[in-house]
Amino acid sequence: MLPKNAIYSGIPTTIFEVMSRLAQQHNAVNLGQGFPDVDGPLSLREYAAEALLKGPNQYPPMPGIPALRQAVAMSYARFQNVQVDWQSQVIITSGATEALSDCINGLINPGDEVILLEPLYDCYAPLVERAGGIIKLVRLDPPDWVLPIDALQNAFSDNTRLLLLNNPMNPAGKMFSRSELELIVDLCDAHDVFIVADEVYEHLTFDGLPHISVLSLPKAKARAVAIGSAGKTFSMTGWKVGTVTGAAHMIEPITKAHQFTTFTTPPHLQVAVAKGLELPDSYFESIKLELAAKRDRLAAGLSALNFKVGTCQAAYFLNVDFSALSIGDTDVEACQAMVRDAGVATVPVSAFYKGDEPPQMFLRFCFCKQDSVLDDAVERLAKWLGA
Ligand code: PMP
Ligand code: GLN
Repeated sequence: MLPKNAIYSGIPTTIFEVMSRLAQQHNAVNLGQGFPDVDGPLSLREYAAEALLKGPNQYPPMPGIPALRQAVAMSYARFQNVQVDWQSQVIITSGATEALSDCINGLINPGDEVILLEPLYDCYAPLVERAGGIIKLVRLDPPDWVLPIDALQNAFSDNTRLLLLNNPMNPAGKMFSRSELELIVDLCDAHDVFIVADEVYEHLTFDGLPHISVLSLPKAKARAVAIGSAGKTFSMTGWKVGTVTGAAHMIEPITKAHQFTTFTTPPHLQVAVAKGLELPDSYFESIKLELAAKRDRLAAGLSALNFKVGTCQAAYFLNVDFSALSIGDTDVEACQAMVRDAGVATVPVSAFYKGDEPPQMFLRFCFCKQDSVLDDAVERLAKWLGA
């Protein structure tokens, strides 16, 4: 047998897929993998359907259709007060996942060091390793997710090429403060390092806290790109329409990676997402309020069962400390027992760590589900725990 790629053959199936399969197998309520159980705006699905029927359905322009790239540029002006040129500073990809792959492949050379902040979204480390990058980890821990400044400073060396930031952060639900962002950008500026900011949850922020895009920090202008995802913004995760926006000299090599990865993204979805970004403020306000109410509903239910529920400023995940309950010695044990015996699927937070001794007593619950589904999950847990 010929050897296969050591990086991809050496890693297991992603935890999100594993938990969704287990949820199905056990007929469980799936609060594991992050996806809404109700589709986003009907008007966008109608635009997509119309564009699909009317066509054209041929290859759209490789960097994305002009209407969507213009809409992305306008939305940075509208939501972040940041001006970008749609032709040289915006491209459309098939999901944020492709965007991440394009950024990493387009910006680093084998042997370059890449700073990643734990907890890590599943594809970050494999993509960096596959591109020949050397990972330098900086670790944030639940429940407070404090950015360790000394560790961050020490992570930089003469070989650092890129820092990948997830803000708002999955699974932490953390939004980096302006001063934390300034510190990160200052360090990248001082060491001449690129910043790729995965900002897919930019519109899912709560309690009046505004999302601060890295693109809005003056020192980041020449060295950063931000990634968006229509799947998150419009609650249609299957659409896989991503955006990369930022410094033109970075967009150029990222576009080269895109052209040999997917080349384009389905045109009818691009048409619909362009319309979506032009929806009135009421849409963007209501999605925040609806999700915050779901967060509070699930948090109240879990707290009443003696789970210790962490704060969540953004995205759609609650991190819950189960150490007051006897449901397992590790998060993996607790998670397996819960899906099997209670019929509720979650994700062990340790799955987001690559370094030694990850946190062991936290589970991630996804709350972008119908109220009846959240209530069903809490009832199942209450019954299981004999509460
Ligand atoms: N980054 C983060 C932090 C995510 O949570 C997700 C969600 N799946 C993605 C990227 C990927 O987004 P997409 O589905 O648009 O590829
Ligand atoms: N982003 C989603 C989550 O964190 C999962 C996406 C996926 O399964 N690829 O759960």
